[in-house]
Amino acid sequence: MILPIYTGTDNEVLRQIAKPVKAVTKQHQRLIKNMKETMVLAHGLGLAAPQVGVSERILIANFQYGKKVGDKFAHVALINPKILKHSEEEVLGDEGCLSLPEIFAPVKRFKEITVKYLDEKGKEQVLELSNLNARIVQHEVDHLDGKLFVDYLDAGTIGKYEKELADANQF
Ligand SMILES: [Zn+2]
Repeated sequence: MILPIYTGTDNEVLRQIAKPVKAVTKQHQRLIKNMKETMVLAHGLGLAAPQVGVSERILIANFQYGKKVGDKFAHVALINPKILKHSEEEVLGDEGCLSLPEIFAPVKRFKEITVKYLDEKGKEQVLELSNLNARIVQHEVDHLDGKLFVDYLDAGTIGKYEKELADANQF
């Protein structure tokens, strides 16, 4: 089922701190399935539950960018994700957001991160990610904390990058 994506910098759900998931239920698994379908249709690289109006700490990451379809890392659900450590090094890279479809701008993110999370079966997992995959998770974890990538930009920068978006991938 395709879910409506909430948009806007002052949307209430997008600005809330999402609640941790206490136990992974069938409802969560259904939500994750729907979020994956929604992300694929929207050509997204990631999607956080608040973007579909659910204030819980769940995100979907599309790790298949640049990899062949069918890779086991393709679409991964991360429940209660926590960034355990990150590199000193930061990299500047372009970001868009399915909740802010008009804006596409460069943002600094850590180059490498280690993230701990629960998978769809409620099992704890740890992933080491770099570059784009690390960027996707940092962008989505921000959504769970009520943060949007434009918060890192000043007003002039936002104006400059507005409407420049063509068919770019968004998070
Ligand atoms: Zn986003």
